Amino acid sequence: MPSTRKPTTSNRSQRAGSEVKGPTTRIGYGFDSHEFKAGIPLKIGGVTLTHDRGLGGHSDGDVLLHAITDALLGAIAAPDIGALFPPSDAKWKGTDSVVFLREALKRLGDAGYGVTNMDASLILAAPKIGPHAAAIRARVAELLGVAVDRVGLKAKTPEGLDLENTAVAHVVVMLQKRKAAHARKKKRSR
Ligand code: MG
Repeated sequence: MPSTRKPTTSNRSQRAGSEVKGPTTRIGYGFDSHEFKAGIPLKIGGVTLTHDRGLGGHSDGDVLLHAITDALLGAIAAPDIGALFPPSDAKWKGTDSVVFLREALKRLGDAGYGVTNMDASLILAAPKIGPHAAAIRARVAELLGVAVDRVGLKAKTPEGLDLENTAVAHVVVMLQKRKAAHARKKKRSR
């Protein structure tokens, strides 16, 4: 006897065509940390902040963009930032981290997903992020191609953590399948 159960979203998607295989939403998580070093600019979220030290690293050390990049890559189960842009490759030395983020967004687009929203927590002793939060959120929103109200940013001091010389970023992203509506329409017209 044929099943009377309503097909699940993934069943419907698989029947609609190969381009909508898989879930319609995905979540990704990214983490990164960098050590403060004197004599280099401080970049967080694609914004240069006035501070006496910057974040060291093979690229520009932008801890927030690295965590966002890994969250996006993780959401589509792609290789992580270290695998795509290995620090052992001199090619990436001093690279603007926007390059890494754009590659993750390209892979996301190729997989048929767009960013719904993201949320980040920064942990660092200094500088205070509050005065720069609006600029960072605006820049990240611009890079992700979403409205500013889809970019959350909190900053905390490392209380109880021995992290006075380190900046840490945790990021979660939510993705939405972009081709699902188109594919459903195609199925109905058959
Ligand atoms: Mg990093």
